[in-house]
Amino acid sequence: MRKVLLIRYGEISLKGKNRHQFENRLMQNMKGSIGDLAPRRIELAYGRMYIPILDDAEAVIERVKKVFGIVSVSVASVSKLDLDAICSVALKQLNDITGGGSFKVETQRPNKNFPLKSPQVSREAGGYLLEKTEGWSVDVHHPDVVVNIELRSEGAYVYTEKIPCLGGLPVGTTGRGLLLLSGGIDSPVAGWMGMKRGLEIIGLHFYSFPFTSERSKEKVIDLAQKISTYGGPIKLYINHFTEIQKAIRKHCPEQYYVTIMRRMMFRIADTICGQAQAKAILTGESLGQVASQTLESMAVINEVTKIPVLRPLITFDKLEIIEYAKKIDTYELSILPYEDCCTIFVPKHPAIRPKLGPVQEAEQALDIEKLIAESLEKTEVLELSPR
Ligand code: ATP
Ligand code: MG
Repeated sequence: MRKVLLIRYGEISLKGKNRHQFENRLMQNMKGSIGDLAPRRIELAYGRMYIPILDDAEAVIERVKKVFGIVSVSVASVSKLDLDAICSVALKQLNDITGGGSFKVETQRPNKNFPLKSPQVSREAGGYLLEKTEGWSVDVHHPDVVVNIELRSEGAYVYTEKIPCLGGLPVGTTGRGLLLLSGGIDSPVAGWMGMKRGLEIIGLHFYSFPFTSERSKEKVIDLAQKISTYGGPIKLYINHFTEIQKAIRKHCPEQYYVTIMRRMMFRIADTICGQAQAKAILTGESLGQVASQTLESMAVINEVTKIPVLRPLITFDKLEIIEYAKKIDTYELSILPYEDCCTIFVPKHPAIRPKLGPVQEAEQALDIEKLIAESLEKTEVLELSPR
């Protein structure tokens, strides 16, 4: 019996040209995601996709569950458009479920050429199943199992389970964003959320060797690799930030270290966005979490760039962020105890509500252009793929 993974996708708002773009990209992303499993053709028909299942349903489902844009999947048996054939496929499905219980049959009939109407098919199939099985009864209100029959032009699909997936939009359909990726808990989650809304993510990490260790850089590489399982290969820029931090510490008032450091980060991010054609900067900031995450700080920091800065976690509590980090499997990596460049020069009393004027004045002590040009020259670029 032919089995397929039936893929449901799409947001209600999808129309016309958008729909094609969505489908093409989803198809491409799915191929990328299952590409190293047995080769097969993914079929597209009437707003659904189908992946032929060999004997690897579980492996395929695990992969597909990480592809944004898919709402749910079902393992379906395919039958020809003939009531007897459909009934015997349905029987096999029900027999595969151990223990028995209650069931009902639900039929959809997008193929109006099928001679029987949906309620008739449900009734006939329900009667057949009741007669041919033991331990199963019919309950139309609260069944344990729904036997779904979909009558389409290319065949009938029978399935009993709908597995929920991530939803969202296929990665790459809404543009490219540059994620400021630290080794912390928040930024990987922010990146994942950007991907959920269709952004292709590239990463930028600020690295302060020898103040931060080689291991802290590897941790960030591991994190980027982890989030690449949700959207395919990720380009990661590693910017050597040490000289900038030293210059800030040497020439600027302590209370502005963090503000100026973050303005430098955003200037570098702005330049890399230009080079890499990214149209947004993403961060893991959450309102009020630390001194640099007040509205006043964010305003002063944003002032150096015109590119939209997306902060997907801005209204999230730390515990909510942790929940996501666990769900997407970045948490264990994030809590490994390696220092971040943001934590090494934290002054005792950072300005919590900095004002633009004094910050700009303090920055005059720096040769900003030269510092940025030199650090950009030393930036490494890595291509990371899911392991
Ligand atoms: P995270 O858990 O993501 O590190 P955080 O709560 O520790 O966040 P901060 O250290 O203030 O907060 O950093 C705020 C945001 O700035 C981070 O979420 C990240 O987007 C960016 N950021 C901080 N440090 C770095 C770094 N070394 N490289 C790249 N981006 C960074
Ligand atoms: Mg941090």
